[in-house]
Amino acid sequence: MKIGILSRNAELYSTARLVDAGEKAGHEVQVIDPLRCYVDIASHDPAIHYRGEPLQGFDAVIPRIGASITFYGTAIVRQFEMMGVFSLNESVAISRSRDKLRSLQLLSRRGIGLPVTGFAHSTHYTRDLIKLVGGAPLVVKLLEGTQGIGVVLCETDKAAESVIEAFRGMNAQFLVQEFIKEAGGSDVRCLVIGEKVIAAMKRTAPSGEFRSNLHRGGAAERIKITPEERSTAVRSARIMGLNVAGVDILRSRHGPVVMEVNSSPGLEGIERSTGKDVAAQIYEFIEREARPGKTRTRGKG
Ligand code: ADP
Repeated sequence: MKIGILSRNAELYSTARLVDAGEKAGHEVQVIDPLRCYVDIASHDPAIHYRGEPLQGFDAVIPRIGASITFYGTAIVRQFEMMGVFSLNESVAISRSRDKLRSLQLLSRRGIGLPVTGFAHSTHYTRDLIKLVGGAPLVVKLLEGTQGIGVVLCETDKAAESVIEAFRGMNAQFLVQEFIKEAGGSDVRCLVIGEKVIAAMKRTAPSGEFRSNLHRGGAAERIKITPEERSTAVRSARIMGLNVAGVDILRSRHGPVVMEVNSSPGLEGIERSTGKDVAAQIYEFIEREARPGKTRTRGKG
């Protein structure tokens, strides 16, 4: 098959692994920088041009759209869908998962366990908002944050009030969340492909830190997950409409709670800690599922 990897940087571990695994599986693989694509929307024959040439003959694309280019990146994915190209994750599902409030609302509506979470716009009800999520200790999170940046642990109600006021002063959007202390600075990343968790790792924060992001010095190890965690991860990916997802779970006193569903999960930590060839399994999924014109939404969402 001819497969495009939509990524800004061919040198990134995940992109390089996907190129390698795709070629090993006998596919023709091209890395395409979505920001260098330009599009003819008006045409009856939707097209994408890249470095002066039309992109043609692709059977599938693997979007690896960074958070900072979600808007333009998903427009390019949508254009591929309009051309009938199978996208590993569809544009609507990627956009949905990037909107933290929308994601949490969708998951909550379907009964997925979540940390108690609140958000508010008005400045008048800060104290009540803090009360609503059970009071300190609690976590205040910037909605645009990634890799743990903008995630603040507030040990007292007073500290939470100050942080909320500071974020408001910057006109930033945020949410307020119950702190899952019993998770002990660890979370569980489940890598879902299709209807299966194919690999899971436990990430643990370095001492003195509660955020377990690998970019913040967290350590990753292979872990055996419970059937409840497995079904929570698979259901969460399905609710978001993602074929491939990294579902982040905290082990709380009342069972697994989902923090986030990631549409471009990194491969490095999970492959190294579990020894699983995630990239190869992504191609196996594409080989099973990709048919020309087989996108559920065809960009209509
Ligand atoms: P980002 O999307 O920036 O990675 P997260 O919401 O995943 O932000 O938070 C970063 C890390 O902080 C998580 O991996 C987890 O270890 C910790 N964390 C986040 N929210 C909570 C919470 N409510 N309770 C306990 N730990 C949390």
